[in-house]
Amino acid sequence: MPRAGKAQRIGITGVPGVGKSTFIESFGTMLTGMGRKVAVLAVDPTSRRSGGSILGDKTRMAKLAADDNAFIRPSPAGDTLGGVARKTRETMLVCEAAGYDVLLIETVGVGQSETVVADMVDFFLVLMLPNAGDELQGIKKGVLEVADLLAVNKADIDDKAARRAARAYEAALHILEPAEPDWSPQVHTVSGASGAGLPEIWSAIELHRRKTEASGSRTRRRSAQQVRWLDTLVQDGLAERFAGRADIAPRLVDLRRNVADGQIPASVAADELLAMAFGDNLPAN
Ligand code: GDP
Repeated sequence: MPRAGKAQRIGITGVPGVGKSTFIESFGTMLTGMGRKVAVLAVDPTSRRSGGSILGDKTRMAKLAADDNAFIRPSPAGDTLGGVARKTRETMLVCEAAGYDVLLIETVGVGQSETVVADMVDFFLVLMLPNAGDELQGIKKGVLEVADLLAVNKADIDDKAARRAARAYEAALHILEPAEPDWSPQVHTVSGASGAGLPEIWSAIELHRRKTEASGSRTRRRSAQQVRWLDTLVQDGLAERFAGRADIAPRLVDLRRNVADGQIPASVAADELLAMAFGDNLPAN
């Protein structure tokens, strides 16, 4: 897949109702208008085939869905975030190989989904609502830490309030160490509905790309992501195989009860289970 890895990978998050789909519809349409090919993927661990969230649903982005240079794929259904993440990563590579040069990966802030998406993109965009006072209380610190750009959305409703919120977020970001030496997170105001502020956000993303490509931090970010992904796959694979072993599962149930009752120390129970899985070659402590 010669073109895999060449696309601009952008993560987008924000609470339900913040305007993600409206933003992506406008932003994606602007980009296809500039000659880009845009793929929209979604990561929603709560998505099920029957019901659940419709994140990434084509009906939410009707114009973009009808655009020949855009591809929209709803979140894969899955019980685990790891499973959803794996399918999304595979789809990302396929999209890149097919010539999509901007990938927008949308997620809601459910559990660890923001962190998981931030760890598969080059640029992480967080959409916020203008009611800064309340919002600042509710914002997860982990999200601020991974944001490359915070955009206060729906600025068309009350531009002053949006700017006030932006200043509050700027102050909050100041107390955090930048994740990359050559990029300090920016705060913008935007309106997905009117389109105001969208070109500025794209300019910031392009500037980030140029800076991090020149310094090498983009390559380092992707390498670190790949190594963390390897570790995740190994851990998930081990846990899955362990839990799936016909001899281990019932013994685990017994030992859990024994540990709960205080009959067996947890460490002794763990040693027994690991010995069942891997033989008696336990690493020396
Ligand atoms: P999502 O749940 O984050 O995908 O949010 P939506 O894009 O579905 O938007 C939620 C609601 O906010 C809808 O009623 C939109 O019409 C409205 N909305 C979204 N973006 C804007 C905006 O920029 N300005 C205004 N005034 N309303 C917006």
